[in-house]
Amino acid sequence: MLSVKEALDQILAKFQPLESTLIPLHEAPGRILAKPVRAEIDLPSFDNSSVDGFAVRANDVKSANNDSPKLLNVIGDIPAGTRIEYPIHEDECMRIMTGAPIPAGADAIVMVEDTDFNYRDTAKPAPPHVAIRKSVEVNENIRRQGADILAGQNVLPLHQKLRAQDIGLLAMLGISEVNVIRRPRVAILSGGDELINVSENLVTGKVRDANSYSLSALAKESGAEVLHLGIAKDNPNSIKRLLDQAVDGKVDLIISSAGVSVGAFDFVRDVVQSMGSLDFWKVNMRPGKPLAFGHYQDVPFFGLPGNPVSAFVGFLVFIIPTLEKLSGIESNLRSISRVRLAEEITSDGRESYLRAIVTSENGTLTARLTGHQASSNMLSLVRANALLIIPSGVKSVPLGQEVNAWLLRGL
Ligand code: AMP
Ligand code: MG
Repeated sequence: MLSVKEALDQILAKFQPLESTLIPLHEAPGRILAKPVRAEIDLPSFDNSSVDGFAVRANDVKSANNDSPKLLNVIGDIPAGTRIEYPIHEDECMRIMTGAPIPAGADAIVMVEDTDFNYRDTAKPAPPHVAIRKSVEVNENIRRQGADILAGQNVLPLHQKLRAQDIGLLAMLGISEVNVIRRPRVAILSGGDELINVSENLVTGKVRDANSYSLSALAKESGAEVLHLGIAKDNPNSIKRLLDQAVDGKVDLIISSAGVSVGAFDFVRDVVQSMGSLDFWKVNMRPGKPLAFGHYQDVPFFGLPGNPVSAFVGFLVFIIPTLEKLSGIESNLRSISRVRLAEEITSDGRESYLRAIVTSENGTLTARLTGHQASSNMLSLVRANALLIIPSGVKSVPLGQEVNAWLLRGL
């Protein structure tokens, strides 16, 4: 039987990042850049004032102080968004607002607080003269063109997942449309004669189809678009009909749950093999040993186990890295921490993913299981914020020992 790592390596070797698409900037948060971004302009794009004050020649006010202020003629007024073409000469200055362009001749800005005209109000006309009460260094309170970013500079790398700050930067650079990797499209189906939809009446023998919902939620959280195929009956024709719909839907992946075990009614494997191929259908892990990967016609196919926790963990372990690779995200983004066990743990020797809650106790990350580990026990997954990874071959780990914990996103 394949190890988790062998199975994942085999799967990932079959995928490449998808092609790119051009989208408006406001739709770009969370998307993955298909090209690196280079600045085409300097930022700031012109020299400007970082304060409200007076644009001066530093040399004119070098001896100014509170006791002997220097009087300058105010020859212009520059609110933000405007510029003044004529220069200042000796003993002249202009009133200037934060963000406004520096007039020619000026080489520093004196803050309004350091003058006898301490008003920020643009409605108040600039005075004819102003007394400067403090000297300034050349360049003081000036943001020079290109001080933040120079034209030609690389600012965002290929495959960056766009965060709010990246979006802000793109806006500053005037990039209104962004080349991103297109979203993967996945088809999701569930299988089993016992399954009913969430809104149907529960009668003995029936089980609500949880996997269509949880797996679709995971797919969407990973940036995929979902084609919902619903529930296949436990017969080859019903399964084939839904798989054919997935092919018609031109999806990048088919994700099915249940029916890949060895039960008398587990037809999914046969159907996939009859119209495609399976690379493997068992992985040495717990929960979720029956896990199939192959192709239905030419579409990559994942057959997850039926039990809700097994299906979920199978998705986390195999399908999220696949979606990340399709999306151009480097995989191995799993966040693993070493944690101390607050109880003894037993396992059956397969690589195990145990639902646990990790908390910091006196600075030590400490883990406790969230309940019994049956693969139907969804509440223990809901209460968990981590999966403890017990390596294969290990059957028990004593209290107090450290193990790897995979901290789950969003918890
Ligand atoms: P199977 O892999 O078909 O043997 O299913 C294993 C277990 O998972 C059975 O108890 C099924 O009823 C249950 N199961 C299968 N599919 C789903 C589903 N979509 N939602 C909830 N439980 C399921
Ligand atoms: Mg079944």
